[in-house]
Amino acid sequence: MYRTHNCGALRISDVGQEVVLSGWNQASRDFGGMTFVDLRDRYGITQLVFNIDDNKELAEKAQKLGREYVLRVEGVVRERSNKNPNRPTGDIEIEVRSMDILNGSKTPPFTIEDETDGGDDLRMKYRYLDIRRAPVRENLIFRSKLAIETRKYLSDNDFVEVETPNLIKSTPEGARDFVVPSRMNPGQFYALPQSPQTFKQLLMVAGMDRYFQIVKCFRDEDLRADRQPEFTQIDCEMAFVTRDEVLDTFEGLTKHLFKETLGIELPDFPKISYDEAMTRYGSDKPDTRFGMEFVEMNDFAKGQGFGVFDNSELVVGIVAKGIASEYSNKNLKELTEWMQRPQIGAKGLVYVKFNEDGSIKSTVGKFFDDEALVNWGNRMGATPGDIIFALSGEAEKTRKQLNELRLEMGRRLGLMDPKVFNPLWVVDFPLLEWDEESERFHAMHHPFTAPKKEDEQRMLTGDHETMKSLRADAYDLVINGVEIGGGSIRIHDRDLQSKNFDLLGFTKEEAEAQFGFLLGAFEYGAPPHGGIAFGFDRLCAVLNGQNSIRDFIAFPKNNQGRDIMIDAPAPVDQEQLKELHLDLDLENK
Ligand code: ASP
Repeated sequence: MYRTHNCGALRISDVGQEVVLSGWNQASRDFGGMTFVDLRDRYGITQLVFNIDDNKELAEKAQKLGREYVLRVEGVVRERSNKNPNRPTGDIEIEVRSMDILNGSKTPPFTIEDETDGGDDLRMKYRYLDIRRAPVRENLIFRSKLAIETRKYLSDNDFVEVETPNLIKSTPEGARDFVVPSRMNPGQFYALPQSPQTFKQLLMVAGMDRYFQIVKCFRDEDLRADRQPEFTQIDCEMAFVTRDEVLDTFEGLTKHLFKETLGIELPDFPKISYDEAMTRYGSDKPDTRFGMEFVEMNDFAKGQGFGVFDNSELVVGIVAKGIASEYSNKNLKELTEWMQRPQIGAKGLVYVKFNEDGSIKSTVGKFFDDEALVNWGNRMGATPGDIIFALSGEAEKTRKQLNELRLEMGRRLGLMDPKVFNPLWVVDFPLLEWDEESERFHAMHHPFTAPKKEDEQRMLTGDHETMKSLRADAYDLVINGVEIGGGSIRIHDRDLQSKNFDLLGFTKEEAEAQFGFLLGAFEYGAPPHGGIAFGFDRLCAVLNGQNSIRDFIAFPKNNQGRDIMIDAPAPVDQEQLKELHLDLDLENK
C-alpha cells in the first residue's frame, strides 16, 4: 500500500497512529543528528523526522535525498515540539521507521514553492513542475469546482449539456479561424469553432429548449495576458425567452458561483445602456468599483475663447480626489506624457489643480481666470486638494482616451480593491458598426443578433443613416472592468436574417453558401430564442482578483501562440503533407 493518509490529513488527534505516506521531497533540512523532510502531495505537506540515534542507516539515507525525490515512508505520528501554525498539519510530524525511494529526480529548474524564482517561459516549459506549486494547483482545483457548480446550477434549471462538433465550417465571430485540412476532401478545410453559435441556435430549432456546454473555442488572434488561442466558454442558449429572462438566469448563475466558491452574496446587478456606459465611463466595460465618473464640460468650458476647446466636439473631464499635494509638476508632466503615448494618443492633458491653500494652478490658466476655474470645480464637484483632468476632441475618441486615464488613476490611487466585486449588465448595444476604412457595416456582436423589437421596422425599411442608430438586443456581463460574457436575443425570422446579411455586405449567394443551413432551418418553425456565453478562463481569474488567465489553464500557450512544453506548432513531414494534399513545393515558390 502506498499510503494510509495523504500529506494534508494528519492532525494532533492522530498522534500515536502508525501511518504510511507517499509524496515528493519539497525540502529537507539536515541538523546533523536530525533530518527533517517536508513531504508534499496535492493535499498538503507533512513533516518527516529522521533521528540518527534511532536508525543510523535510515537517517543517512534521508540526508542524501534530493529535491523532488518520490518517497514512501512508514512511521508513527507524534506531536511536534516546534509547531507550525501556518500549516494544517503543523502540530504533528512523522517519526519515520522505514523509507522507500520510489523515484529519483533531477534538480528542478526552479524552486517548487509558492513564490518561485522561475520566469514565465521556464515555468511553461516545465509546466508539470509548475503545477506541483500550490498556487497553480489551487487555481486548477478552483477551476474544477467552478465547472462543477456551473453544471449543477444549469442542470437544476433544466439546461441540457450537448456537445457540438469541433470540425466545422467557419463561424463569423469576427476573428480569424484556425483551419484543418481534410484528407478525404482534397483542397477543402474544416475550421475550428470560434464558438458553437450556429449549432446552439439549431438546437433551439430542434426543440432542446435550454442548452449549455462548457466548451473549447478557437480564435486565431494576437495574444494578450487575457487571451489564448484556445479558451473555454460556458455557452448557453434558451428558447421562448425575453432578454430579461436570459439576464435573470445568468445573474442567478453568477450569484451561485460567487456564493459556492467564495462565500460571497452578490447584490442584484444594475443594468446600464451602452450609451450611458460610454457617457459616464468612456467604456462599454466600466470598472465601477470606483467613481471618478466623466463630467461633460461643453456648456461651461466652451465658448470662453479657448480655441482648442471651442473647436472640439466634446470637452470632458474627471476629478481625482485629494491628490493635489502628491502630484508635483513633474508628476503631472509624466502623466501627460503617459497620455501622449501612441497607445493612447492624447494631444495633451489639461489639468486644474486646486491646492489646499486655495490657490489654483492650471495648464489653461492663461485662458480661464480663477473665477472660471472655481466654477469648473463647482460644476464637477472638485474641492481644494483635488485635480481636474480634462480632454477635448472628437467625442468617441476623447471618451476612450479619458477612460484610459480614469483607469490609470484608479490603479495609482489604489481604488481597485481585488476583494470587491461590482457586476453590472451593459445592454442595448448598437446593432451595427460603420467601418470608415472598409466602408461597410460590421455586426457589433455577431450577425445573428436581433435588433430591438422597436427597431425592427426601421431596420427593414430605413436608409443607410438609420442603420447606424439601430439598437440590438445584446448584452454583456461586466465585473470590475472585465467583460465576463456577452450574448443576445437572436433573429429567428428568415427575412430579417437575410436583411442583416445584406447590410453586412453578403450577397444572396454568399449568404446562402455560408449560412444556407441556418436560413433553411429558420423555415421550419424556429422559436424565438437567445443566449449568452461566459469566458470561463476569465471568470476564474476575476473571481480570484487576477488579470492573467494563463494560471487558470493547465497547459497554456505563450504570447506567440506556442506551447513551449510540447513545442507546438511544429512542421510535419512531407508524407503527411502529401496525404493532406498540402505538399506545396515551398522552396520553388
Ligand atoms: N457566441 C457568442 C460569443 O462567443 C456568445 C453568444 O452570443 O451567445 O461571444
